[in-house]
Parts: sequence; C-alpha cells; structure tokens
Amino acid sequence: MIESPLLEKLNGYIGGRWTDNAQGNTFDVYNPATGDVIAKVASMSESEVEDAVAAGKSALRLTSPYSIETRRKWLEDIRDALKANKEEVGRILCMEHGKPLHEAQGEVDYAAGFFDYCSKHIQALDAHTIPEKPKDCTWTVHYRPVGVTGLITPWNFPIGMIAKKLSAALAAGCPSVIKPASETPLTMIALFSLMDQHTDMPDGMVNLVMGKASVIGKVLCESPDVPMLSFTGSTEVGRKLIVDTAEQVKKLALELGGNAPFIVFDDADLDAAADNLIANKFRGGGQTCVCANRIFVHEKVADAFGEKLAERVNKMTVGDGINGDVDLGPLINKAGFDKVKRHLEDALEQGASLVAGKQPGDLGDGLFFPPTVITDVTRDMCCYREETFGPLVPMALFRTEEEVIEAGNDTEFGLASYVFTGDADRAQRVAAGLRFGHCGWNTGTGPTPEAPFGGMKASGTGREGGLEGLFEFVEAQTVPRGF
Ligand code: ADP
Repeated sequence: MIESPLLEKLNGYIGGRWTDNAQGNTFDVYNPATGDVIAKVASMSESEVEDAVAAGKSALRLTSPYSIETRRKWLEDIRDALKANKEEVGRILCMEHGKPLHEAQGEVDYAAGFFDYCSKHIQALDAHTIPEKPKDCTWTVHYRPVGVTGLITPWNFPIGMIAKKLSAALAAGCPSVIKPASETPLTMIALFSLMDQHTDMPDGMVNLVMGKASVIGKVLCESPDVPMLSFTGSTEVGRKLIVDTAEQVKKLALELGGNAPFIVFDDADLDAAADNLIANKFRGGGQTCVCANRIFVHEKVADAFGEKLAERVNKMTVGDGINGDVDLGPLINKAGFDKVKRHLEDALEQGASLVAGKQPGDLGDGLFFPPTVITDVTRDMCCYREETFGPLVPMALFRTEEEVIEAGNDTEFGLASYVFTGDADRAQRVAAGLRFGHCGWNTGTGPTPEAPFGGMKASGTGREGGLEGLFEFVEAQTVPRGF
C-alpha cells in the first residue's frame, strides 16, 4: 500500500472537510508497473454527490463576489503548494499512472503553471465600460461566474488536466465538484490535501467526489444547480454528456479524443523531426490525446526517416517509472495494452511491416509495451482510423502537399497536428488547411498554460489555457445604464 503524508485520508472532500465514508464502499487503485493494489479509495453515493453540489452552491457568491485579489491569492497559494510538494505529488502520480518519475514531476510543474498564468492574468476578468455610448447608455460588461461547475478528468494527466480546469474556475469565482478518473484518484486526493492545508478558500469552493462514473455523472448532468460541466476524456462519453445535458442546455467545455497527424516533408530536418516525434509520441507511454497517431512521411525520405526512428527507439529503456532513468513506463491497464497489440496485429496482417519493436507474439504478459515502429500503413488499418493510445508509431507514405492535407483531415477528430518542413509558405498553407486546434510547425510540443488549446470537430468545444481558457468559466453580462 502506498504511504504518504498527502494520503492520510482516502475519502471525498465536501464543504471544507473530508467525508467519513460511512457506507464503507471502496474501489482499488493499482500500480500498473507491478500490478499491486496500492490503495482502497472511497466510492461515494449519490446523496454524497448531491451534498457536494449543495456545498458548492453555498460557496457561490453572486451579489457580493469574491474580489480579484482574493481569487488571485487562492491561485498563488495552490501554485506555491504544488511547487513545494512537486516531488511527493510526482511520486504518487508515478505510482498510480506508471509514467516515468521525471515526467510525473514535470507534470506537477506544468500544473502549477496554469495556476500561475491565471493568477497573473486574472485582471482580464474585471468589468469594463465600452468606449462608445450607443442608445444613449453607458455600457458595462461584467464577467460573472457561471456557477457551480462539474470538473471531470481522465487518468492520463492526473494533475495536469485538473489544473487547466480548476485554475480557470477559481479565477472566475466558480465553486466546483471534481471527479477524477478511478485509475488515478490519489494524485487528486494529494491536491485536496494541499488545498486543505495551504489555502484559505471558503468551505464548499472545491469538492472531491470519487467512485462510479454513472452515479456521479447522473447527479452532475441532472442537477439544476450545476450549470456547467468541463470534461476531458473520450468522445464517446463526451457525446453522452451532450445528450444528458441537452434538456437543461448546460454549458459544456469538452476536450475529447484525437487522431493527430505528424507530417514530415522531404525538405524537413529529419533528425529534428525524429527527435520531436520521439518526445511527442512516447510521452506518458503514448497515452496522451496530443500524441502523434498517424505519421505521414514524404516517400522520398521515408526510408531515411524510418532508420532514424529505429536508431532512437532501439536505445529506449522500458520499465517501472519509479526507477530513475526509464524512458517508457507500462500502459495503464490490460484493456489499453490489448488495444495497442490489436492495432499492431491488424496492421501487420494488412501489409504493414515492422521497422522496430517486437512481433505481437513476442510481447509477453504485463503491461510493458516496447516502443514500436511500423511502415506502409494505409487508411483501412485500425491504427490509422482509431486513436491507438500507446507506443506504436505507424508511418504512411505521401507524395503531394494537397494529398497530405486531405489525408490529415480524413478523421472525425481535430485536436493536435504537426508539420515538419523548411518552407515557411508551405507550413502556413498546411497549418491553415488542417482542421486541428493545435498545429506545431517544426515542433512536437503539446499545450502550454500561456496559449489556448482545444479541439475542432469531434475533438470538442472550448479552450483551456491562455486568455481564451481564462474566460471559459464566466458569463459575460452586459449592463447598459440609462441615467
Ligand atoms: P478514458 O478513455 O480516458 O478513461 P473516459 O471518457 O472513459 O476516458 O473517462 C474520462 C473521465 O470521465 C473519467 O473520470 C471517467 O470516470 C468519467 N466518466 C466516464 N463515464 C462518465 C459518465 N457517464 N458521466 C460522467 N463521467 C464519466
């Protein structure tokens, strides 16, 4: 079992205190590197989730709102607490997610960055009076908190994903009811321990509920006291939330699946492209929504690029992320492992060939999937059409710019994309043609707190990060004054 001063309670947190889990229902949390159960966490009831919503409602202040200075202080305190406890929060994250320790601790810094950014830009949410005086009135625009928000997060960035949402919600003055993924609730409990100890937020401002998604989702979708949900996860669940909140016309911020194209033209710096692809693709074990999923390589450089990838991949170390210098940890669970294996098998059966990695029959038991590169991938293969969410690099060949823009867009998703070329005009044309919310030019980097990030098409609605993200949790209210 995991021991940590930040995990003294393994229960929910409602109205400023830890719940007592009177019913005694729990669920198991595993370390994917060892298969061991490392904690038993409270699985909460419908009435507890309703209590959390009620606590949020009691913390919402409309007629005497929390001042900008007060909200800035909450954000700064959370940022500072995360930074001061980066090692321990990162250790907990590493143990329940499996990503290498340095990546896990880096994620804590990344999370702190969102609280920092919102604290520094919160002034943008102050009311302003517009310079014109239409209709003989003075027009003031106020940014009101949306209300109590439901924040639902996935397991792939246990602290990063909540930081994006919570920083903006607190900046707006919105209380929240937070539901982490059941694979990774411990990092969230650690965050609540830090907020409990190091911030002076009113009771009910932040509430933690854990357990069955169906139970928690039902209350959050049906309660009229929760006017907004911010969700990161699968497109399938995102669609369900749209349907389940349609009746009340709730505000939704949705960050859903991706199927990122990574395009390498024949005039690209191939070494830089290969380095960036490795850093992008194997982050979090390949289990991020911005990981390159389809690698389009110009046919003239395909062999050379494949060799560079194989060279790099063959040097990577795979193992338990807690042991220092590991490049790649385990996949999150058996279902995740089996999906990557199925994609590899399917591609090889349909004519793709292995450039680096193992044949499916040699993968063995356990959740450690070796970094794998395949080539001659075509659009009928599962790894081209679906998000693999694992360390499989599928290369498909192309000839022309028009063809590759069309191929890149040949997916219902539109989250992250990447283009590598030495031609600036071409980069501009390709970025404009790709219907993706993020398009890296000669970089495989993902989001940052300072810039807006989000999807087009079935990858979702809304933005996180940047000023656009800061405005997600407010309603603009206009007050024209007649005299
Ligand atoms: P992933 O494939 O990354 O696990 P999911 O969409 O299944 O993505 O889950 C993302 C988050 O949404 C998790 O916290 C999960 O428990 C939660 N979730 C799943 N189903 C529902 C639902 N019906 N209502 C609310 N939350 C849900």
